[in-house]
Amino acid sequence: MAGGARRAGPASCALVVGGVEIEPLFDAVGSPGAVAEFYAGATEEDCNRARTQYPELFAGDLWRLPVTCYLLRSGGTTVLVDTGVGPPGLWEDWEPEQEGGLLAALEEHGHTPDDVDLVLLTHVHADHVGWNADAAGVPLFGRYVLHRDALEAARKRAEEGDEIVRRCVLGLGGRLETIAGEVELAPGVATFELPGHDVGHVGLRLGSEAVLIADAIPHSMMLDRPEIVFLYDVDPDAGVATRRTLVAELVDQPVLTVCGHYPGSGIGRAVTRDGRVVWEPA
Ligand SMILES: [Zn+2]
Repeated sequence: MAGGARRAGPASCALVVGGVEIEPLFDAVGSPGAVAEFYAGATEEDCNRARTQYPELFAGDLWRLPVTCYLLRSGGTTVLVDTGVGPPGLWEDWEPEQEGGLLAALEEHGHTPDDVDLVLLTHVHADHVGWNADAAGVPLFGRYVLHRDALEAARKRAEEGDEIVRRCVLGLGGRLETIAGEVELAPGVATFELPGHDVGHVGLRLGSEAVLIADAIPHSMMLDRPEIVFLYDVDPDAGVATRRTLVAELVDQPVLTVCGHYPGSGIGRAVTRDGRVVWEPA
């Protein structure tokens, strides 16, 4: 695809937030298409401003989408949040620039899949479940947790022919566990529901010091314009409402905003600068 030679991540040092160690694990970067195609209501001016603020997230008119997963460690429990795009070639609906990085990133940080006690799947889109299984389709981790509504939706999608969901979610069989509402996965690591983007979409609160927002605000330009509708939101009105709630909770607060689709490690702060909300790396 068009674009520069910039590398997205990996940021290699762990950050400790509220007693939880958080390590970003870079998996992939590429483009699923034109920015204008994904963000209805984003004006030329929005895009130009965002291109200056977040050059890593653009390749010309294309949305340059980094995919970073997170390893969280707290109280002796290791949680992997999402598993990226997976083995190269699995996700066909984007133009990869680099892909297939998660296992190497784990290794680089001194871990193997066996060190992961559980995988939290924030939702079952292709860029979040890819490495649930290896290139041969064999599950890589021991336990996978997702919202019960997400599993129900996954069953329907698999029946309708979604091959990635069939392979990467239903193929996990008895390793799957479901949750609903707020569940503490490890000390200070708790799920919460983020309606709108996908059925059973969840984020995580790391104590009171960081919020992992999954894909509730998938492009940092939306922090300033939460009313922009994202093409992949399954319930657009709920998506906008969730974004407004998150913006009120996060902007100019002593809270980190964590998103695996943001620049660099995806760990930073949403702050007001010159009357506009921007995301700045921590
Ligand atoms: Zn995503």
